[in-house]
Amino acid sequence: MPRIFLVLTVLLVTLLAQGQARLSVHWEELTAADFRSAIEQSKGTCLLPFGIVEKHGPHLPLGTDLLKVRYAALRAAEQEYAVVFPEYYFGQIFEAKHEPGTIAYSTHLQLELLQETTDEMARNGCKKVIIVNGHGGNENLLPFFAQTQLEKPHDYVVYVLPIVEAPPAGPPAMKSSGPDMHAGESETSKMLIARPDLVHMDRANQESGADQARLKLPGDLYTAIWWYARFPDHYSGQGSAATRERGKFEMDDWNKVIVDAIRAVKADETSLRLQNEFFEKTKHPLDTRQ
Ligand SMILES: [Zn+2]
Repeated sequence: MPRIFLVLTVLLVTLLAQGQARLSVHWEELTAADFRSAIEQSKGTCLLPFGIVEKHGPHLPLGTDLLKVRYAALRAAEQEYAVVFPEYYFGQIFEAKHEPGTIAYSTHLQLELLQETTDEMARNGCKKVIIVNGHGGNENLLPFFAQTQLEKPHDYVVYVLPIVEAPPAGPPAMKSSGPDMHAGESETSKMLIARPDLVHMDRANQESGADQARLKLPGDLYTAIWWYARFPDHYSGQGSAATRERGKFEMDDWNKVIVDAIRAVKADETSLRLQNEFFEKTKHPLDTRQ
């Protein structure tokens, strides 16, 4: 009899473990009860993959950044469990408003929507929110947003994972040279992994992704029209040089960076503690002593 109980217990534990392992990483696929388990399993760590909808050369879909970042984030979350927020693409993309299909929300809405989104994630138990960026135009927005989290107390921490640039060396090495910043060899290669069915390789040379260098200013002097001055067709690089091998190399690299970030964030108990300590001190700055 005890032997039967042992076998049954082992069977039950195995089934429970499998049940837990089978929890979807997709927020929107979980039931309410499973969501509770998912937050527990993820230790309150959630990903917000951040895309955009904009032209991507003559050969890639408008949602390239969204599709790519979700592919990378979902795969990473399956390796190191985290809950992944649904499709989010409400970022900074004013520089592509002259191209068809661009969705460019106003600045205040971008910030307010992002704040309410992370607030809502945290209210649901995501006390550690990792924004995984997939779009170059968000690279200034996201650190600014993260910085503004010190404006007033929050019971959660926002982390930002910037776009990951894979090392130019391989194997396999890049085939093209020069700027490769948007819909070029690197990005097209990654799309050959994420959504090959949406890549129109035969159209990649219909436009030029060469740097037109129309603005002569010192490198450290910033003005918003710099991108349009260099790449007026919203295409930078040579998409036709893309290969699946390069795409796999870059996606694997990105995947590793996201997995490492999830693990580091799960282990991080310092940020929230210091945030709380800081907010407490902000209530009476005159008492703060060196
Ligand atoms: Zn892109």
